[in-house]
Amino acid sequence: MSEIKNAPTIDGFFDEFGGRFIPETLVPACEELEEAFKESWADVEFRATLDNLLANFAGRPTPITQAKTLSTELGCELILKREDLNHTGSHKINNVLGQALLAVKMGKNRIIAETGAGQHGVATATAAAVFGLECVVYMGEVDMMRQELNVFRMELLGAEVIPVKTGSKTLKDAINEALRDWVTNVKNTHYCLGSVMGPHPYPMMVRELQSIIGKESKIQCQEQFGRLPDIVVACVGGGSNAIGIFSEFLDIPDVELVGVEPAGGASLTKGDPGVLHGSMTQLLQDEWGQVLEAKSISAGLDYPGVGPEHAALAASKRARYVNVTDEEVISAFQLMTQKEGIIPALEPAHGLAYIVKDLEAKNSAFKNKMVLLNLSGRGDKDVDQMMEHLKCLKI
Ligand SMILES: *Cc1c(COP(=O)(O)O)cnc(C)c1O
Repeated sequence: MSEIKNAPTIDGFFDEFGGRFIPETLVPACEELEEAFKESWADVEFRATLDNLLANFAGRPTPITQAKTLSTELGCELILKREDLNHTGSHKINNVLGQALLAVKMGKNRIIAETGAGQHGVATATAAAVFGLECVVYMGEVDMMRQELNVFRMELLGAEVIPVKTGSKTLKDAINEALRDWVTNVKNTHYCLGSVMGPHPYPMMVRELQSIIGKESKIQCQEQFGRLPDIVVACVGGGSNAIGIFSEFLDIPDVELVGVEPAGGASLTKGDPGVLHGSMTQLLQDEWGQVLEAKSISAGLDYPGVGPEHAALAASKRARYVNVTDEEVISAFQLMTQKEGIIPALEPAHGLAYIVKDLEAKNSAFKNKMVLLNLSGRGDKDVDQMMEHLKCLKI
């Protein structure tokens, strides 16, 4: 049996965060999933099937790229982990292929998912097509307007996209609807959650499925630069790409870990403990405990909560969490595009925005350091939105 490193308690707690705060009807489903995951993760044959899919379908390993121009201009040694080069355009596919394989193993023929920007929905619809599963994706009506092309992509792939018209009509509400569907159809349905959030075992399971990012990065940095990075930076929505790359460096105290949230969705720096979507975490809420809306330029980071393991890492100070504004993100997006020839998704542009901000400050922590940025996805989905923004700014 391969042990799971830094596993939560048997109740799914990372220190005081995590757990399983769900309706009675979902407890057996979570237990079934936990058992199937633990068994499969220790099963050589399951791992070989998944590795084969990751290599020959998703395109792993993704390379690391030296951002030479930006390094010179900014004054650090910037390395990019190229998750943007994955099939379907982001790190989401790592998680989804694993969960789809599990669904098949558990004998489920229907898979459901929530999506914000549409990347997780597209990845899930893709995996459903590969495995011949029925697929339903819940998406907030506001997000459907922001990401029209991804809606059409999911439909092309054979998925049904259901508009969510409740609450803020964004990601948080889409998760509520997906959970409601799961309660009703739990017999034949697997809920493919898109990030390291939700009830146990999701935060642990999705982290393990995304830890491939950190494993590859570590080996690649050693091979190509003969050393590990000084600082690892990743954007944080629910936190799956960040925990995926952080997880392999957690027990190396010399490597600093920095998570970047949008200023309008900074649950780790501006939130308080509370329960959302089945787990105890840091949440944006008002003084009466009502969950507030997150607001950012990137639909993929518009989430008022965050994965419980990040809440624990923030509390223990093993990782540091910061935030950047939409304006800083737009400049960083243009900078990476024009200096490195890579159009990033708006989400990882948050990471670059913080690196730039730090290096412009008087007491920079990043100066002359080797900085590894997780480039979690490509910007194709965001080009329309950028066009609108730049038109407004008359640039
Ligand atoms: C979905 C998404 C994110 C945010 O999700 P995490 O779980 O925080 O990683 C970040 N970047 C990209 C490209 C995404 O598609």
